[in-house]
Amino acid sequence: MNRKGHWIFGILVLCLTYFIIQDHIPFDYKMFIVFLPEFLIGCIIPDEIENVKKTFDFEGFLGFRNHRLYLHSKRFLKIILIYIIPVSLILAYQVDMKYFAVTFLFYGWATHIFSDAYFTKSGIPT
Ligand SMILES: [Zn+2]
Repeated sequence: MNRKGHWIFGILVLCLTYFIIQDHIPFDYKMFIVFLPEFLIGCIIPDEIENVKKTFDFEGFLGFRNHRLYLHSKRFLKIILIYIIPVSLILAYQVDMKYFAVTFLFYGWATHIFSDAYFTKSGIPT
C-alpha cells in the first residue's frame, strides 16, 4: 500500500473513531483537526523508517519475508495499543494537552500496521 492508501485508510479509521467515541466521551471535535498532521505523519512513518530500499540488502541475510521489520510487527502494534496510547492519553488528560500529539501519532502508526496486515499479501511479522 502506498502513502495515499495509508492516509485514506487512516482518515477513515479516524472518522469512525470520532463517531464511536463522541457519544461517550465529551471532547472538542477541533482536537481531531489540530492533531491531524501528527496522525497523518504516523500513518506513513513506518514506511519511512523501514523503507524497502534501505532494508533490501538484509532481506536474505536475516531471513525476513519482506522489508517490514520490528516497527511493522504485531508485537509493536500491541505495545502501541497497550502502552503508548493509554499512557499518552493519561498524560494528555492529567498533565498537558500536547501529549495528544503522541496519541495521534501512534494511532496513525497503528492504522498503518493494520492496513499493511490486511491489504498486503506478505502481511506483517509477529
Ligand atoms: Zn508499511
